[in-house]
Amino acid sequence: MNIQNVMVIGAGQMGGGIAQVCAQAGFTVYLNDVKEESYAKGIAVIEKNLARSVEKGRMTEDEKTAVLGRLTKSLDIQDAKHADIIIEAAVENMDIKKSIFKQLDGIAPAHAILATNTSSLPITEIAAVTKRPEQVIGMHYMNPVPVMKLVEIIRGLATSDEVYQAVEDMTKKLSKVPVEVNDFPGFVANRVLMPMINEAIFTLQEGVATKEAIDEVMKLGMNHPMGPLQLADFIGLDTCLYIMETLQEGYGDPKYRPAALLRKYVNAGWLGKKSGRGFYSYE
Ligand code: NAD
Repeated sequence: MNIQNVMVIGAGQMGGGIAQVCAQAGFTVYLNDVKEESYAKGIAVIEKNLARSVEKGRMTEDEKTAVLGRLTKSLDIQDAKHADIIIEAAVENMDIKKSIFKQLDGIAPAHAILATNTSSLPITEIAAVTKRPEQVIGMHYMNPVPVMKLVEIIRGLATSDEVYQAVEDMTKKLSKVPVEVNDFPGFVANRVLMPMINEAIFTLQEGVATKEAIDEVMKLGMNHPMGPLQLADFIGLDTCLYIMETLQEGYGDPKYRPAALLRKYVNAGWLGKKSGRGFYSYE
């Protein structure tokens, strides 16, 4: 399968990063969002990242111009008709993802692969709303996308070997490392990471230590590059909450219940770095 044209749905932290690495690898990319201002924010971050690469001598000005030239603005999902693969990176919400996949199934060419960057939602359930479940797959990038090497590639129950192979090949073209994972809630990355973050939030909630102390213990004690509370802010507290809810619902095990403090912050609109405030302040 020859993939040349990519569409990324959602120009947020993840979608912007995915669009950037695809354009850098030579793919032509439609970057789609429902909101004009979210697209503008997304493309501004890409421009800033590329300008930094030029400053650091990792890229020439001409290369930067060429990368930006491969990116096309999209505010209309109908642009999916041009794509060989669509990578969905909208919010972590099953109803929204199902609605997007249903629409994409009706618009995208018959050969097109429908991929999702979901952190934890079942690929098989998303695939079931389409008439091409064998062409639906999880392509789970890590944050920040331009920096992190891993892409978890998740096979839904019906995903074909041909589609898996095409997505693995594409991942390698992006200079990323694909790791094959089966479709269970949270896959591997968030099944292991998110309960650790949630436990750090319980630790804060119970007054065991301050947020700074909890992060310091995990950085210095476990050699983590960043403490769990700061990492939660970077991931987005709404995304963390969705993932915990998915684990709790998927496994039916109370050990995955989200900390009340996490829910409180999300309800307050404290979503972490992207909203200017989470466990820490970013104003
Ligand atoms: P975000 O809130 O930064 O961005 C989401 C974007 O999607 C917004 O710009 C929003 O306007 C747009 N959007 C919402 N509905 C849309 C629709 N119907 N069509 C087009 N655009 C739409 O979120 P994010 O952190 O980029 O996360 C996106 C996805 O990636 C989620 O599924 C999340 O779980 C997953 N993910 C996130 C991380 C992380 O660290 N943040 C890591 C891996 C995977």
